[in-house]
Amino acid sequence: MILETFAVGPLACNCTLLGDSEAGEAIVIDPGDEVDRIHRRINELGLKLKQILITHAHIDHVGGALRLKQLTGAPILLNENDLPLLRMMNQQASWLGIKTPETAPPDESLADGVLVGLERYPAQVLHTPGHTQGSVCLHFAPLKLLVAGDTLFAGSIGRTDLPGGDYDQILDSIQCRLLALPDETRVLTGHGPATTIGVERKSNPFLRGM
Ligand SMILES: [Zn+2]
Repeated sequence: MILETFAVGPLACNCTLLGDSEAGEAIVIDPGDEVDRIHRRINELGLKLKQILITHAHIDHVGGALRLKQLTGAPILLNENDLPLLRMMNQQASWLGIKTPETAPPDESLADGVLVGLERYPAQVLHTPGHTQGSVCLHFAPLKLLVAGDTLFAGSIGRTDLPGGDYDQILDSIQCRLLALPDETRVLTGHGPATTIGVERKSNPFLRGM
């Protein structure tokens, strides 16, 4: 198994590459920027990209998705509740003062409960609205791994002051869906360091009393 996470773009979005070297296949989660670097790495590893998975449609997570699709032919998957945000790419780019990346509607929706990923490393989609309405986390149960996007961070949670954000809803999503996972579940967050469900359950100040 190949599992690499690297920060891309001006907001340092954590992009994750998961590969199965025996099957020769990979998926990429949140290729927000630096697509040439991501593409080069996939080629170096000799893998074929099967899916481009997007945890939510903020520009720093989705910005490079279409270009990576054009380079590899892999489909883009994004929860349909984030389509309004995807259509606001001009506005999102102006918040950051960067050029608007080209985007396209996803090939498939990351609907709650759907299985995605690789044959030997599948992930279940957990729809966890609150940071955005289409935010999802990807739970690779056999790997005891959660890719959390901007829903849960080490010691913090995703901001809810942008369009589609809802503070009560993100807390509800974390309590009902993420804290239901075993403590040993490793969490790759959308920005910053990784953590575990157990550590956040115990020490995340936003989750007190849950
Ligand atoms: Zn975000």
